[in-house]
Amino acid sequence: MYELPVVCAVCGLPEPEIFTIGGLRRTFCPSCHHSQRIDVEPFDYKGFAMGGAGRTPERLAAQAGFVAPHIADGARALEIGCAAGDLAEALRRRKTFSAYHGVEFSPARDIAATRMDRVFAKPVEDLLASGEVEAASYDLVLSSHCLEHLDSPSDVIAAMLRVMKPEAALFLEVPHRGGHARLPFDDNRSHIHFFGVSSLTRLLARHGLETRVAETGARLDERYSDSLRVLARRPAPLRADPSILSDHPKLAGVDKVVVWGAGRMVEEMLAHYFDPARIAFFIDKDEGKQASLRLGAPVRGPEALGAGSDWTVLINSLEFEAPIRAEIEQRFGARVARIIPISELLD
Ligand SMILES: [Zn+2]
Repeated sequence: MYELPVVCAVCGLPEPEIFTIGGLRRTFCPSCHHSQRIDVEPFDYKGFAMGGAGRTPERLAAQAGFVAPHIADGARALEIGCAAGDLAEALRRRKTFSAYHGVEFSPARDIAATRMDRVFAKPVEDLLASGEVEAASYDLVLSSHCLEHLDSPSDVIAAMLRVMKPEAALFLEVPHRGGHARLPFDDNRSHIHFFGVSSLTRLLARHGLETRVAETGARLDERYSDSLRVLARRPAPLRADPSILSDHPKLAGVDKVVVWGAGRMVEEMLAHYFDPARIAFFIDKDEGKQASLRLGAPVRGPEALGAGSDWTVLINSLEFEAPIRAEIEQRFGARVARIIPISELLD
């Protein structure tokens, strides 16, 4: 038996509540709701594969289905606690990887080695120190049902961050609190940390990682039928990008559009995500807006569509999309070649 410090490993609260289950003390943090053992029974991982349970095809497909949409083909992946490489195999059915490496201490790594490009048997910190793994070299780092076994999950997340490229994704899965919706706590002696949504996302945030997707109720097996899985990244910079709406395939081949609607969506949406050089002029029935400029283009009354032909009209309104479309078709049907509502560019 050994003791861990009585301080919340997630938020650092110095005096979390203490209670005893099965003769062993653990904490509960009233600030972030993390719970962790103080009294820990040593566990021999050499003969035990972490993540060894939950190898059903349904479970592996659910995990791979959660991760796959967030990575590109050709990614380099590192899975910490990869057990026999089942998740790697499931992911490789959905995506190509330029490299898929694993870390596993148990003998399961012999099987993993047949499914992955390389399997290491050292902690990530040691692999970085020896140069076997390079800093900032992976697009995806994964760890399933591993973090809850570690004395200091924070140290391991710090090591994961070091091997992640700036844009890389981190996938984690742990039991959600006790791991079973009907059982108030879990007394698995090899589990040291009991994460909730707030404590896991807070731990990641402390390391500068933003949780983009979180899911509870993920089934590992009967005992851990309520697992928590998250996908996190470093926060993306808040950058305007006119290509997001202007380069939509619906506008392919269109030089300039007439934007119907010079209201709030101009500043809130088009100013950030639509190239003003693609706007011929605005139309708005509010005479107070006519004769002014929006994004450098004039605002005119609807009759402006009566001059010229072959217009592409962008309906810049969600609430009034249907009546605007009806009015354009009725009054200017012969002059307008295409009507594209902004709802379609956002879809
Ligand atoms: Zn805490």
